[in-house]
Amino acid sequence: MSDGGDIETFGDPTTVPFWAAARQHRLVVQRCNSCGHHQFYPRPHCLSCEAAELEWVSVKGTATVYSMTTTQVQVYPDLPPPYVVALVDLSEGPRLLTNLVGASCRIGDAVRVTWRERKDAPPLPVFERAGGS
Ligand code: ZN
Repeated sequence: MSDGGDIETFGDPTTVPFWAAARQHRLVVQRCNSCGHHQFYPRPHCLSCEAAELEWVSVKGTATVYSMTTTQVQVYPDLPPPYVVALVDLSEGPRLLTNLVGASCRIGDAVRVTWRERKDAPPLPVFERAGGS
């Protein structure tokens, strides 16, 4: 239990399937078996119809930049500034707080998921501009 890389100790139990998939570089969100609504972050019930029958499904990993800002202050030792914090809307609907990496993006740009490896935690889904440069 003291191993920082132990998936069971990372985050709360609701998020365990998310981090297990992240270790395989699969981006997953919850989908409601009753109404088909996709949601992220994970909850014990559907935000659309309140059903509790939710499953984890892989998403395409494509998204659109909803909002973004460049951070100039160091918050995490492993993440030196400047870096871009963004909200992206997945093609399936849910909005994620993430980072944008690589070529610069603008609001409305199409982006796709890529993964940032970390030493003592599962890979983190971040996004890069989709298509050409
Ligand atoms: Zn539902």
